[in-house]
Amino acid sequence: MPQHTPPRPICGHCDGFPTVTITTGTRTPDGQRQTITAHCPACRGTGHTTPPVPTPGSGPERHGRPDPHPGPPRPPRQ
Ligand SMILES: [Zn+2]
Repeated sequence: MPQHTPPRPICGHCDGFPTVTITTGTRTPDGQRQTITAHCPACRGTGHTTPPVPTPGSGPERHGRPDPHPGPPRPPRQ
């Protein structure tokens, strides 16, 4: 069975270009343009959107382990 890898969605903030080099307009003593590198804060330089991380407590989950037998216990027959 061929393994199918779905393409990850491209980050909408940087449009797939997470790292940009910006020239500051000044030149180094060597005569080269001084640049700074900035990474996309949304994808942290990956260029793809990261899957949402589930935060504990946000869902309708209860504390502790889930009860395998929900419902009130039946009273014993006399
Ligand atoms: Zn991005």
